[in-house]
Amino acid sequence: MDDTLYGTRDKRGDWTPNKRPKPLPVFVWPVQLRALLRSLLAYHLSPIRAFFILATLIVWIYLTPSVETMREFSPGWILLILLRNAALALLFYGSFHVVLYIQRRQQTQFKYNSKWPDTNNTTFLFGSQNAENVFWVMCSGVPVWTAYEVLTLWMFANGYVQSVDFRQHPAYLVALLLLFWPVWVGLHFYATHRLIHMGPLYHIIHKVHHNNVNPGPWSGLSMHTFEHIIYFSVVLIFFIVPAHPLLVEFGLVAFALGPALGHLGFDRIVTGDKKSMSTENYFHYLHHKYFEVNYGNSDRLIPFDYWFGTAHDGSLEADEAMYKRMKAKKCARG
Ligand SMILES: [Zn+2]
Ligand SMILES: [Zn+2]
Repeated sequence: MDDTLYGTRDKRGDWTPNKRPKPLPVFVWPVQLRALLRSLLAYHLSPIRAFFILATLIVWIYLTPSVETMREFSPGWILLILLRNAALALLFYGSFHVVLYIQRRQQTQFKYNSKWPDTNNTTFLFGSQNAENVFWVMCSGVPVWTAYEVLTLWMFANGYVQSVDFRQHPAYLVALLLLFWPVWVGLHFYATHRLIHMGPLYHIIHKVHHNNVNPGPWSGLSMHTFEHIIYFSVVLIFFIVPAHPLLVEFGLVAFALGPALGHLGFDRIVTGDKKSMSTENYFHYLHHKYFEVNYGNSDRLIPFDYWFGTAHDGSLEADEAMYKRMKAKKCARG
């Protein structure tokens, strides 16, 4: 498969896609109805969203204890949830890692950074990027994810949080999932992400994640425990906004597994001789490359970066705008 059909490779061997990241045409005036609907449909019907919905249903039906059991904290059911989350993370992150980074089935085709993760670098725990990444995902990410899940399920089981019945209010719950959730997620992620880029907060909370200048799937959820606590707090909104516990489960599954794709490092996965599928994650890759740009979600449904002037599409013009902004920031600081 020829990756120069989709992008260009520079002297260092780094690959840049021809198609630059753009915001979805949601907030444009006059409204481009067809483009808007097409984007929203593509967003909501994307294979990965369908996968997360399916995974949530399987988890909910087969791998979640009964409401009666969850009324009281007990090690048995909490351990069950911890183990199933660990298995989900291992399977999901591990599959992409094995195919792309261990078997290297497509070598560096469609890979943004031509280098492979560091294996002898003292910046990382155990001297290895992959080992550090797996450590933070499995020893901090999975337990924090589980803690949020256990707490919310216990709250719902005891009626401390209002649960909305699907049969009585289907339209409300669908609207919550299709309209409210993406907006809330976009806002929560952008706001908290900008916050943890500030001064000491960056060094205490966010630096671990940014050790990964050349990210791979496991880098996605490789964060300090404080960052995991902030990151997964997105589901606490359902303590205020009435919903069904399934929505919390969906939010947690998507937030726990989604970062694998946002940090894949490959723009496309080769599936056949002349076939490949898009796994575009260039927008967030640029965040790891330049730090001070693209704080928002990779889906760019709510284009906060474009509104606040922090977007970078990988072009020379965007480079210039970024350096100008950094210079102005420095001058303002004195
Ligand atoms: Zn990242
Ligand atoms: Zn960051």
